[in-house]
Amino acid sequence: MIFKNKDINPYKKIVILGGDGFCGWPTSLHLSNLGHEVVIIDNLSRRNIDNELEAESLTPIQPIGTRLNVWEEITGKQIGFYNIDIANDYDALLNVLSNEKPDAVIHFAEQRSAPYSMKSPKHKRYTVNNNLNATHNLLCAIVDSGLDIHLVHLGTMGVYGYGTAGMKIPEGYLNVKVETEAGESMDQQILYPTNPGSVYHMTKSQDQLLFQYYNKNDNVRITDLHQGIVWGTNTEETKRDERLINRFDYDGDYGTVLNRFLMQAAVGHPITVHGTGGQTRAFIHIQDTVRCIQLAIENPPAREERVMIFNQMTETHRVNDLATLISKITGGEIAYVSNPRKEAIENELNVENNLFLSKGLEPITLNEGLLQEVTKIAEKYAYRADYSKIPAKSTWTKEQQPGVPGLG
Ligand code: NAD
Repeated sequence: MIFKNKDINPYKKIVILGGDGFCGWPTSLHLSNLGHEVVIIDNLSRRNIDNELEAESLTPIQPIGTRLNVWEEITGKQIGFYNIDIANDYDALLNVLSNEKPDAVIHFAEQRSAPYSMKSPKHKRYTVNNNLNATHNLLCAIVDSGLDIHLVHLGTMGVYGYGTAGMKIPEGYLNVKVETEAGESMDQQILYPTNPGSVYHMTKSQDQLLFQYYNKNDNVRITDLHQGIVWGTNTEETKRDERLINRFDYDGDYGTVLNRFLMQAAVGHPITVHGTGGQTRAFIHIQDTVRCIQLAIENPPAREERVMIFNQMTETHRVNDLATLISKITGGEIAYVSNPRKEAIENELNVENNLFLSKGLEPITLNEGLLQEVTKIAEKYAYRADYSKIPAKSTWTKEQQPGVPGLG
């Protein structure tokens, strides 16, 4: 296609870091399907962690080469792939950026499990080294390349902490009044003070400072998406061929709460609620994740603009209410087990998400049909489940006992 004015070309070159993962793979297909030119960088560390934990995705995910060939076979669209560890191979990362000259980079390439990050000193140190070096290498390489690349990063709602003193969590920035020495009152906006709940969340909190600095010093254009817990498995694109299926984690480390409940109900395992289930969390369906990222790519900040922060979530729920809803739909029984995390027994959570709504997001909310769709996937692949991997074995402190039933 030829565009007379280059500015109206709606198609972009997009490098997707972590494009083989749970959020990255469906995003890569969605953006490729829209006509963008997509290149994935991934060191396949998530697949290696499966080997380490001896836990697999419930769904049979194909090797990355097969995934890419199948996509080309059914759509005629090519997605490029580089196996690079972006935390440890700066030169290779810089080379790809310099050669591919992307308009945008989407950064999913971090260790994303809070329980995994708390397993042992080795896991804490790996998570810090991997996540902080990945983010810093990327920022440094963008500046080094001399290109005006829009960076879209996947952050987490967890950076805010879960106690918000009755206020709505704003989108990244907090309005504060400070008193000057002359006794006058002055309005300021600051990054919402972070309150991470795990080593993993701490790395995401620190990412925010790296973004703020490179944006201020080098005018790097950055959108940071503070995402809620993602649920669901497939998107329009991953449904097109079974070999494109997305991963579905159900183990005690990587299984996120709603998907874990749906899988447990589908295979006849008790729905395990940690603590009282009074924790409130923010959620988003995987189909909305890919739409939000599309909206972020289509609406880049201007060069002089500060880091744009969106809360990428569509609804909040109390964990116990989710367990009760799934038990009602499936007949599964609920089991209360001790909470491996060090956190408040209960919390409220009210979140602003006006920025995505103002850009046209029409949120998919939790409904029975969708829940059943996920349950059907879990039922279909139940034969692959290893029940010994379901309990959470990683604890936040040495004193805690993992998976002991009874609390609540
Ligand atoms: P994932 O583990 O499935 O995917 C991450 C991908 O990045 C993997 O394919 C992994 O191999 C790759 N990767 C990790 N370190 C790398 C490195 N150093 N070099 C190259 N590749 C590397 O995780 P996900 O669930 O897709 O999450 C993606 C991002 O979204 C994460 O940053 C996570 O913090 C954020 N997020 C996820 C959720 C969720 O519910 N899944 C919620 C909020 C935020």
